[in-house]
Amino acid sequence: MGSNHSFLEGKIKDLKDEGVYRKLPVLEGANEAEIILDGQRVINLSSNNYLGFSNHPKLKKAAVEAVEKYGVGAGAVRTIVGNMDIHEELEKILAEFKREEAVMVFQSGFNCNAGTIQAITQKGDLIISDELNHASIIDGVRLSRADKAIFKHSDMEDLEKVLKEKRDNYNNCLIITDGVFSMDGDIAKLPEIVELAQKYNCMTYVDDAHGSGVLGESGRGTVDHFHLHGKVDFSIGTLSKAIGVIGGYVATSKSGQEWLNHRGRPILFSTALPPAAVGAIIQAVKMLMETTEFTDRLWSNAKYFKEKLGKLGFDTGNSETPITPVIIGDEAETMEFSRKLKENGVFVSGIVFPTVPKGTGRVRCMVTAGHTEEMLDRAVDTFEKVGKEMGII
Ligand SMILES: *Cc1c(COP(=O)(O)O)cnc(C)c1O
Repeated sequence: MGSNHSFLEGKIKDLKDEGVYRKLPVLEGANEAEIILDGQRVINLSSNNYLGFSNHPKLKKAAVEAVEKYGVGAGAVRTIVGNMDIHEELEKILAEFKREEAVMVFQSGFNCNAGTIQAITQKGDLIISDELNHASIIDGVRLSRADKAIFKHSDMEDLEKVLKEKRDNYNNCLIITDGVFSMDGDIAKLPEIVELAQKYNCMTYVDDAHGSGVLGESGRGTVDHFHLHGKVDFSIGTLSKAIGVIGGYVATSKSGQEWLNHRGRPILFSTALPPAAVGAIIQAVKMLMETTEFTDRLWSNAKYFKEKLGKLGFDTGNSETPITPVIIGDEAETMEFSRKLKENGVFVSGIVFPTVPKGTGRVRCMVTAGHTEEMLDRAVDTFEKVGKEMGII
């Protein structure tokens, strides 16, 4: 076949015709609050590096030390000979941090969902999923042999309707929700979900990728935020966002962990996390256990930024977290707004249909602990200037 992939070339032309073809932006240097992107210096309001850990000196030092002792690669899957003592140490400290019985670590949040959901469900089971759940949950559900049902976003009446209609026809039932929804920054109604799960004898599964390192005491997550320890069966976290490195994990029971050890396919068939990542993550978790200064700064920065944008008359939606959508509406206008912000030195990505519903295009601002007040002021001034130029405010 060689280089002539005409079946793809046609599809790529379609993307171009639809105006959705894009090139990947190129970042020169570390992912900091201010960056050089495509050769231009900009304030970065688009990373998931909530706590500024991805380039933190203490994490880098821990990574280098782990490389010195363990090398650059784990050398095997965990079930053969890639399971180093630092992987065990990481799971122990994460379980302690999360205040749960046990933790199983995966190579990413994505493959944690892909590997866990299929391992804990089977034919004859039902999975009920929030309509706005993350793509990796959708893929995980597709890999399962269980039946699926969707409930309207955070709509507890609709969830109960599905439960009433379907629950009795199945063996096990698993209710899955994101902890924090990434496009709007709203928090799942976890206490109500847990209550319904108890009433209808279901298990609960929370993907807390955007809650890990953000919500709860020193970033312990959505389960901790609602004081629901021991009441959520599977609590998934990522180590790639606020923790600043790479990886994912499930906090669960000892038996949940043991089962994933045997049937979590990414554990069996994909090489273990590299030592540098593990060393850095252990350091990050230790820092969060020592102090709340990182999460405190994240939340005070987010509050400061949100208030200032609100005062200018921007619509920041229903966010309850540092994720700050600025809703513009029209798709083309949203992308134009994002482009003009970048020209003026602020990088914030535009998000439009089909990622969010038609007519709710937005730029999504990710405030972090790494932003200084001066940077946030400069970003707000730029929003004001561009917003006025375009007649948005
Ligand atoms: C980012 C994200 C993931 C994937 O996590 P990675 O560690 O980046 O693979 C999974 N679920 C949700 C809800 C996410 O936002």
